[in-house]
Formats: sequence, structure tokens, C-alpha cells
Amino acid sequence: MLSKHWKSHVGYRLSQVRAVSDARSVKDRVRPEDFYQRAIGPLSGRGTWRSARCPFHVPDKHPSLRVNVETGAWRCMACGAHGGDILAFIMSRDGLSFRDAVWTLERGYHQ
Ligand SMILES: [Zn+2]
Repeated sequence: MLSKHWKSHVGYRLSQVRAVSDARSVKDRVRPEDFYQRAIGPLSGRGTWRSARCPFHVPDKHPSLRVNVETGAWRCMACGAHGGDILAFIMSRDGLSFRDAVWTLERGYHQ
């Protein structure tokens, strides 16, 4: 029987080893809809493109950010911030490298 601590330690090391080569599979395990709900709060609207408050310009009084809950693409109708997927969103919002964005996504999703 493995202790919880040991398992979490090994899980962290494994996530370091495979971080970049496995970026695609990490991203594929995360539903863009779940990610954006967690990252920027409730999404309004229906269908593929939903709206949320934009974290790239403050204050965003009306939800200006459009996010695609299938592909993860995002675009702000007010400030023009945009990107093609949830990793690009994390990199832009948090000022992270691609590798650090992969780690952030994997850690955040499995907590
Ligand atoms: Zn914006």
C-alpha cells in the first residue's frame, strides 16, 4: 500500500519528466469549458462561444471575452487579446513560458 504522500511526490516528478512532450495529452484531458469556468468564473450564453469577464483589461464591466468551449480559443471584443487555446490563455494571463503553462494546467486540473 503506497502512502498518499509518496504517490503525490512521484506524480509530481512524472509530470516534470513528461511536461513538454505530453503537453498535448495534458491539454486533451482538460475540457475547455471546465478550465474557463475555473479560471475566470461563470460563462454566460449558450453554444460553442460563451462570454466571460476579460482578465486582460480591468475593469471589464460587461463580459467581453469570448471563449470557445470546444477548442479553447479565446478573444476579447473590447481589448483585442486573443489566442488559440487554453495554454496560450495561461501563458498570456500569467506571463508564463509554454512549459510552465503545461505544468500549471496539469497541476490545476488534478488538484
Ligand atoms: Zn479584454
